Amino acid sequence: MSNSFHTNEEAFDLGDCPVHNRPFECFSLDSLKLICPSCLMFGPHKGENVCTIEEAGKIARERLNEAARQGLLKVDKTESVLLDIRQTKLTCEESKVRVMREVEETFTKLIKKLKERKNVILKQVEDHFNEQLDEIQTQEQRWIEKQELSVELLKFAKSNNEANLVKNGRHIIQAIECINEPLNFHVAKILNTVDLNLKTIEKKKDLNPDEFNRILETYGQKGDIVNVNYRC
Ligand SMILES: [Zn+2]
Repeated sequence: MSNSFHTNEEAFDLGDCPVHNRPFECFSLDSLKLICPSCLMFGPHKGENVCTIEEAGKIARERLNEAARQGLLKVDKTESVLLDIRQTKLTCEESKVRVMREVEETFTKLIKKLKERKNVILKQVEDHFNEQLDEIQTQEQRWIEKQELSVELLKFAKSNNEANLVKNGRHIIQAIECINEPLNFHVAKILNTVDLNLKTIEKKKDLNPDEFNRILETYGQKGDIVNVNYRC
């Protein structure tokens, strides 16, 4: 059976203690909650200062009246504090959006510039090597043709068919001249490295994003080129 608290002829059902299933019979002044006799005698609230439920009601009423007298319950009082809190919250949210946008924009610019620069460098390296490879391949092709001519001439040399030699005389003589051309040296320019150091950053303490972007425009210069001579 539940206990009831009577004020102004109204009865409030206070319920039972969920731990002991007994009606709440007093109010703990230490824990500031309703407790049952078992709580007070054996339970977690053993030995606490208590008062009757009626007294607890009076205490709460007195505290409320006191707060009202002090003006604590006026809406204005909390309103101005809330205004302050909300203004701070707004400032906080605005700053968050602004700073995140700045970071996003700055990195987007830097990443774009880095990607552009990377493509330029890769293109330069590729062009450089392709130019060298083209020249080497041209020479290779020339020498494949000379080799084929040698094989052909060897066949002529081994044949007994003089008439055939005469018929092909012009070709044979030109082929011999071709094979007999003096040897040359060509130079292949081998790019050894691209300088990927960012030395400027270390020297300067502050480097704003625009300066960083400018540095990236010339970042990654071609490094050493080694000349390799080859006969052809
Ligand atoms: Zn209890």
